[in-house]
Amino acid sequence: MEDIVTVINHPLIAHKLTLMRRKNSSTQKFRSLLREVAHLLTYEITRDLELTTEIIETPLQEMEAPVLAGKKLCFVSILRAGNGLLEGMVDLMPSARVGHIGMYRDPDTLQAVEYYSKVPSDIEERRVIVVDPMLATGNSAIAALDHLKAKGATRLKFLCLLAAPEGVRNLHAAHPDVPIFTAALDEGLDEHAYIRPGLGDAGDRMYGTK
Ligand code: URA
Repeated sequence: MEDIVTVINHPLIAHKLTLMRRKNSSTQKFRSLLREVAHLLTYEITRDLELTTEIIETPLQEMEAPVLAGKKLCFVSILRAGNGLLEGMVDLMPSARVGHIGMYRDPDTLQAVEYYSKVPSDIEERRVIVVDPMLATGNSAIAALDHLKAKGATRLKFLCLLAAPEGVRNLHAAHPDVPIFTAALDEGLDEHAYIRPGLGDAGDRMYGTK
């Protein structure tokens, strides 16, 4: 499993995730922790961004200073829970382009049904990070990646907060070229395709809809 998923191990992420998992954590607490964890995950997942240099003037002298190279990144959020991670990511990279793909899970078939999509028209030229906090069956992630590849995207990563081994396997089988990053790998799925031990429904927890 370790060869097909990168678990971003960091004591701060692990601690904050535990606070999020607690069933009594409030909506406000859950939301602010998710934003903080998104900052830490973004820091790690952007490690390989290319740099170039620019000549700038400090108050004391000229220098050749590093700046990010090339086109801005594109983050793609799988609605609605993806937006919780997205907000923290945009805090760190405020000029990143953002796409949205609306998916819901058919409760009977557990298949992903797409109801909305809007992504930058030049997505094929960008590095793309697709985000959804929960990688459960992998069906939504697979459908989102199918959609983005059909639009020409080639340099893709997938980022989540919690992953089930089933979702990691399915996603890797469908899109072996897309690296998967998660803050934690949980035990597995229950009969309703919820991640165990998990944290419940991420959308409900961040928006207080239950
Ligand atoms: N989506 C969620 O929000 N939680 C799960 O456990 C699985 C899918």
